[in-house]
Amino acid sequence: MMQKVLVTGGAGFVGFHLCKKLLSLGKQVFCLDNLYTGSQDNIAEFQGDKNFEFIEHDICNPIFLEVDEIYNLACPASPVHYQRSPIATTKTCTVGVLNMLELAKKAGAKLLQASTSEVYGNPFVHPQPESYWGNVNPVGIRSCYDEGKRCAETFIMDYHRQYDLPIKIVRIFNTYGPKMLPDDGRVISNFIVQALKNDPLTIYGDGIQTRSFQFVDDLVDGMIKMMEQDHFIGPVNLGNPDEFTIEELAREVLKLIPESTSKIVYKDLPEDDPLQRKPDISLAQKELNWKPQIKLEQGLKNTIEYFRQKI
Ligand code: NAD
Ligand code: UDP
Repeated sequence: MMQKVLVTGGAGFVGFHLCKKLLSLGKQVFCLDNLYTGSQDNIAEFQGDKNFEFIEHDICNPIFLEVDEIYNLACPASPVHYQRSPIATTKTCTVGVLNMLELAKKAGAKLLQASTSEVYGNPFVHPQPESYWGNVNPVGIRSCYDEGKRCAETFIMDYHRQYDLPIKIVRIFNTYGPKMLPDDGRVISNFIVQALKNDPLTIYGDGIQTRSFQFVDDLVDGMIKMMEQDHFIGPVNLGNPDEFTIEELAREVLKLIPESTSKIVYKDLPEDDPLQRKPDISLAQKELNWKPQIKLEQGLKNTIEYFRQKI
């Protein structure tokens, strides 16, 4: 029988790519989203597909569906957007996750949670292995997301221990690609859109902070491998370990858009902005036989092409 898969946050950036891949694998996909940062436009190409159904719904309200698997992606991921309505963000990560766990329990479904490298906060350990407990400010402007996602992991592990619920936790590191919103606010979409519009590239702080950027196709492959693996529940890091300073990223974007007349400007570093981030992916390599395939230059070229058409 055809497998029924629920993707919450399916009308967002990663959700779109995951729905597309699941449909191509012959699954029946229910895409649930409250359209906070997602859009109907993103999923327009699936609307005629008999194996695709869109459900407008907020996971903070209970719902019942007969499904076999749940990918729980619902939650804004860009600091600009998760800080726009911080209480809703914490509620989505807690009340929303509880509703998805109850749904999984009633439906007898497996649940995979999209967690984040933000559970490591501003890390003292570098690169970050899953065994690191992190350094997170519980009362700062990022806490609605960081602490929300940490609490989500706690709920999920306790549903597993208390009810034997089949669960999976992936900790996603900075991911980019086509279908990010031009006003998403994260660094790669900001720099590309700024360069294409000949606006200044805005580096926050001195640009020596680092991130490790993963192309979205690599992430989707890792998530599906994780869901399909039988015994390993994680948490597991999914990210590209190639680490760049934000200054290096800005220069790379300008190199790949040679016609741009943009300059670089420096703005204040936001509060609690992590100084460095790089995943230790040895666990994903061992348990999932997974590692990212797409280098930053190639991924940026694909993403630039998308934004060229979009803008
Ligand atoms: P996104 O903001 O593009 O997508 C999130 C989607 O969730 C949107 O469509 C939004 O409308 C929806 N949503 C938000 N709150 C909801 C709610 N209460 N009920 C129903 N839908 C809701 O972000 P993304 O980059 O696609 O991230 C997807 C998931 O992956 C998120 O859970 C995020 O925390 C996680 N993640 C992403 C990254 C990354 O770099 N992209 C890194 C770490 C973790
Ligand atoms: N950043 C920047 N300019 C921008 C947007 C972000 O310099 O226009 C910086 C931001 O301060 C952070 C890094 O880029 O140090 C990554 O930011 P993003 O919001 O993409 O992700 P996160 O901070 O959640 O890793």
